Order: sequence, then C-alpha cells, then structure tokens
Amino acid sequence: MDFNLSEREKMIQSTAREFAVNEVLPRAAEIDRTAEFPHDVVGKMVKMGYFGLAYPAEYGGSGCGYVAYALVIEQLARASMTVAAIVAVSILSEESLFRFGSEAQKRKHLVPLVQGDVLGCFCFTEPATGSDPKAVATRARRDGGYYVIEGEKNFISMAAAASQALVFAKDDTGRVSSFIVPTAAAGFQVREPCETLGLRGFGACVVHLDSVRVPEENLVGEKGGGYEIMLEAISVERIGVASQAVGVARAALDLSVEYAKQRIAYEKPISRMPTIQWLLAEMASRIEAGRWLSYRGAFLRDQGQSIRHDSAMAKLFCSQMAVEVTRMGMQVHGAYGTMKSLAMERLYRVAKMTEVYVGVSEIQRAIIASQLIQ
Ligand SMILES: Cc1cc2nc3c(=O)[nH]c(=O)nc-3n(C[C@H](O)[C@H](O)[C@H](O)COP(=O)(O)OP(=O)(O)OC[C@H]3O[C@@H](n4cnc5c(N)ncnc54)[C@H](O)[C@@H]3O)c2cc1C
Repeated sequence: MDFNLSEREKMIQSTAREFAVNEVLPRAAEIDRTAEFPHDVVGKMVKMGYFGLAYPAEYGGSGCGYVAYALVIEQLARASMTVAAIVAVSILSEESLFRFGSEAQKRKHLVPLVQGDVLGCFCFTEPATGSDPKAVATRARRDGGYYVIEGEKNFISMAAAASQALVFAKDDTGRVSSFIVPTAAAGFQVREPCETLGLRGFGACVVHLDSVRVPEENLVGEKGGGYEIMLEAISVERIGVASQAVGVARAALDLSVEYAKQRIAYEKPISRMPTIQWLLAEMASRIEAGRWLSYRGAFLRDQGQSIRHDSAMAKLFCSQMAVEVTRMGMQVHGAYGTMKSLAMERLYRVAKMTEVYVGVSEIQRAIIASQLIQ
C-alpha cells in the first residue's frame, strides 16, 4: 500500500493549484454572478492539457491518468466548481469514445475532444427522466444508411458551447443506443439555459432534436448498447464529481480557518472557542476521508479496473461531505457567510449540486447496495 503521489502527480497538483489561483479564482465570482460560459478560461485550460489528462498520446492526450484528472479537478474546484465541472464532464464523451468507439471514431471524434479543439456534450437526461433509463423517450429511427433522431434532452451541460454531442436514444429494437451528433446538424436546437442554484455559467441547456439525421457509422458501440456505455462513462465522471466536492469543501475550510482567526467575539478570535475548533476539526477530517476515497477510485481506474461500485461510494460520500462541510463553514462565518459578497455563500450553493448531478445520491446507494446483496 502506497499513499504517496508520484513526483509527476505532485507536479501536476501544484501546477493546477497555481493555475487555479492565478487564472480561475479571479473569475469565479463573476462567472457565478453572470452565469456566462467562461470561454476564456477554457482556452487557457486547453493549453494546460486539462482535457487530455487521462488519455494516451496516440489519441492526443498526455497519458497522465485518472489520478491526475482527479487532482486537477480538485484544485480547479477550490477556485470555481463551474470551471472544474467543464473539465470533469468532458470526460463523459471522451470515456465513451475511448472505451467503445471504433478506431475511425476515435481518430475523427475523440482526438479533437482530448486536444481541446472542440467541446462535447453528453445527452442522456430528458424532461421526464434522469434516473430511469427505461423511460428514455428519444427515438432513433433507421432510414436507409442514416438514423433519424427525435426527442428532447434536459440539463445538458455545455450544450451551447459544444460542437459534438453523444445522444442516447431508443432504436428500433426498443433498447438505448448512443450516437455521435454534430451540434451543427440540422434539427439540433439548443434552447434556453437552465437557471440552477449552483454551477452557474456551466451552460446546462434544454436540447431539442428535431429529425436530426446522422449516418449509421455514428452509432457508438453495439446497437442497443447505449446503457452500458452510459454506465461506464458515468462511473468515471463520478470521480470527477467527488473531486469537485473535495475541492469545494477544502475551499470552505480555508476560508473558515482564515475567518475564524480574524473574527473577534468576546475580545478574542473565535478560533479560540472550542465550538469553532470542533467545526474546523470536523471539516478537515471529513475532507481528508473524502479525498482518499476519490483518489482510490481514480487509482483503481488507472489499474484498468471497473469502478462502478467504488466511484458510487466516492460520489455519495464526498457530495454529502461537501454539503455538511460547507454548512459548517457557513456556521463559522455567522451572518457574514450568507452574504453574496463572500465566497462562502457560493460554496454552500454549489456543494448541493454534487448530490444531484451525474446521478442522485439514492441511485449511488442503489448501486452500492446491489453489489452488497447480490
Ligand atoms: C447542472 C446540471 C448539469 C447536468 N448535466 C447533465 C448532462 O450533461 N447530461 C445529462 O444527461 N444529464 C445532466 N444532468 C442531469 C442529471 O444527471 C439528472 O438531473 C440527475 O441524474 C437526476 O435526474 P432527475 O433530475 O430526473 O431526477 P429523478 O430521476 O426525477 O429523481 C428525483 C428524485 O427521486 C428519487 N429517486 C429517483 N429514482 C430513484 C431510485 N431508483 N431509488 C430511490 N430514489 C429515487 C430521488 O430522491 C431523486 O432525487 C445535469 C443536471 C444538472 C443539475
């Protein structure tokens, strides 16, 4: 057992911290306030190679692995969860194509994603379903050498900024298949952004698919194999959400320690009060537990293992941890924590998002329990 990061991972971690402090933190409040997609920051992250950390050089990546992915997302999320989520969510399309795409699909569609030349979006959720894949209502009808896709998707992250979409639809067998769809295709319409509590500026939108035609070679993996692709991709992305939760919680702790040292009550810094120390100690301990759970999931993936069970645990624990830790951070800050002018208020809001997106906590528990009782 070795709990040490490699020299390369330490370097990636410290470079990401520097990048987050210099390039992301100064933009974080504005991104949240305006809810505008941060194209400028994305351009800088492309130069840092953040969209290709987990993938090998032959597909345009740096081959640093999933632990490196987790480390970078944690540091980005300490500054802005929206920015971290852009990198984290990008792995959904990347992982789908890397694990299930044909060689030709990888060359044509994966490489531009990994190199950051284009952004992708992952279109699974619909107005009537997020958790239940059987309820997918989007249809892909065969028409000669084409599929014609009809339906509506909801909460699609980065839809307006993406050039490529991976769309999940029921084919003529009644099972879910996945298709690569250029967002410029006729009938692919990105509707209004969803106004959400946190992750503002992430560009989660409604997408309407009005008879969108894609050639049959755009089917990814086996016909009817879309659900399997979704489960596999999402298992990796859950490590991304767990890492975001750790980063957000860590930011809350940093702010709380600083605040507690300078806030005076009863003629002494509140950091001298046992109640405040109790909160800070709880926050630190829970963050540390969550961090190692998320690193472990990423490490197992680097070993080539399936992480459906482990990443569900990491996401469940870390998202609950972030909600609790930011609540404690608010308590340390007293009334000032509720003010829009302090970052604590934003951290409290974004933490809740980690319990909801990329699968609600109830679904994570169901995945974990199903393995326990099989
Ligand atoms: C900011 C943001 C970005 C997103 N980005 C994307 C994206 O890029 N692509 C995409 O496809 N989706 C995306 N989503 C959608 C997200 O993944 C879903 O909203 C999420 O999976 C929950 O689905 P739902 O909202 O339909 O909840 P529902 O399925 O309606 O569930 C509602 C509640 O019912 C309960 N419940 C449901 N099923 C079960 C069960 N089996 N057991 C026990 N309880 C259950 C839970 O309490 C749950 O919270 C995004 C969402 C947000 C908020």
